[in-house]
Amino acid sequence: MRGRSDAKKHTKMTTENKDNIELKPCPFCGEDPELSTEGACIEIDCCVSMSRQKSDYLDIHERLQYDNVEHKFTDEVEKKVLDIVLKEWNTRHG
Ligand SMILES: [Zn+2]
Repeated sequence: MRGRSDAKKHTKMTTENKDNIELKPCPFCGEDPELSTEGACIEIDCCVSMSRQKSDYLDIHERLQYDNVEHKFTDEVEKKVLDIVLKEWNTRHG
């Protein structure tokens, strides 16, 4: 009897930030961009840069979860925004 096939999931990490989100190399030069998620905005920097306000992607309830001491949203909200912004980056074309 055969065991279950050992399906390994390889998640390529190009950032040390959050689990299972992949930041693809820059579509213009192929380098790994720099990701900054501090404060109220997310920035992806390379030869081009992309800057997004986190609150643009959040509803009113999520916006209220901003922690003025830590200067960030809850992990859940942060992850949601990061996910959207990374997808946006990952689908841009040179
Ligand atoms: Zn680049």
